[in-house]
Amino acid sequence: MGIGNKKEILIGRIDGSEVFAASKKLREHDKSEQKRIKKIIREVVETYAMAEDENTNPGVVISNKKPSFDCYKKTVRKIVSLDDVRQTLESLRADYIGYKNCRGLIGATAAIAWKPIRDKTYELITYRKKKRWGTKRFVDDESVKKMDKKYKTTFDNYDYINRHNRLTPNSPCPVLYGIRGDNEKDLIEAISVVKSEPVESWIIFETNQATDDHLQRKNINNIQPYESVIVKGIVARNPHTRPGGHVIFTIKDNTGTIDCAAYEPTKQLRKTIRKLHVGDLVEVYGGVRKHPLTVNLEKINVKNLVKIVEKIENPVCPHCGRHMKSRGKNQGYKCRKCGITKTKPVVREKKRELHIGFYEVPVCARRHLSKPLKRINRP
Ligand SMILES: [Zn+2]
Repeated sequence: MGIGNKKEILIGRIDGSEVFAASKKLREHDKSEQKRIKKIIREVVETYAMAEDENTNPGVVISNKKPSFDCYKKTVRKIVSLDDVRQTLESLRADYIGYKNCRGLIGATAAIAWKPIRDKTYELITYRKKKRWGTKRFVDDESVKKMDKKYKTTFDNYDYINRHNRLTPNSPCPVLYGIRGDNEKDLIEAISVVKSEPVESWIIFETNQATDDHLQRKNINNIQPYESVIVKGIVARNPHTRPGGHVIFTIKDNTGTIDCAAYEPTKQLRKTIRKLHVGDLVEVYGGVRKHPLTVNLEKINVKNLVKIVEKIENPVCPHCGRHMKSRGKNQGYKCRKCGITKTKPVVREKKRELHIGFYEVPVCARRHLSKPLKRINRP
């Protein structure tokens, strides 16, 4: 948010008053203003953070200088140590507060290091009335579908196949729902279509969600655990289903081989993956699991499909016209009457049930940084 009256953009409503973003940059604040900001933030965090939850480890960073964009890239793509982040903050002479295990400082630093230079999206987040926090949310599914159909610039609203409303979070946090989209004006209109319990306040965030910013192109031998990668390879082992319904296949490039998995929560994507065949050329997108080293599929781009031939029947004897008999596995065929032999049966090309192009996980399984095909294919 900035100051100045030129080109103000409505981005929210808090306590009944409108909140604006300005295109003008906030002036460098002096020491006393920085102290005041720090005090407000400290109060908010210490009042509202669920400190008793082991996964709640807030971090606050106030800095006049922006950390490098590389600092952001490293955080979304690799593993970053808390020591490195502290060093960065010291070198920027930033003011920071880390709570509990302090890992919140990593995200906070990456957040201010981010610049929407490659891509960006928006999310309009609505908040619940305080008395309802922790209770079951009411957000009407039918109205979410209506909103989804009306506003084409929004995405990941509703999973029609798995009947999952993706607007609402699962945690007992104060968020009522969030609508993601490419156009901030559409988001403001979209909230009037969604029927829900009362909205206490709302605000629009500029985000890196659905941008694929976490992904990097890699050769198989360079893939490290916990990275998120795009890898091109040829299917080297056919897909098979493991207990729990996970579907695994192997790809290779000229540097090595790696397993790829469509886990059970990826639902319908598994049906697609089972249709892959040795020799198909694919590009897989996903996070890398450590044990065993596996690419956890977010989406897949099928680049080439091999021809698969299947046997229809034993060969026919050219002399008497009868079907020949098999002489045993891989030993060809022989006509019992005439003694004529043939090595190959009658085959036909099998119809491939896949098309060239992208397939993705359903909306219910989407990771928040993963770019949906709806955005990739947008006009
Ligand atoms: Zn014959």
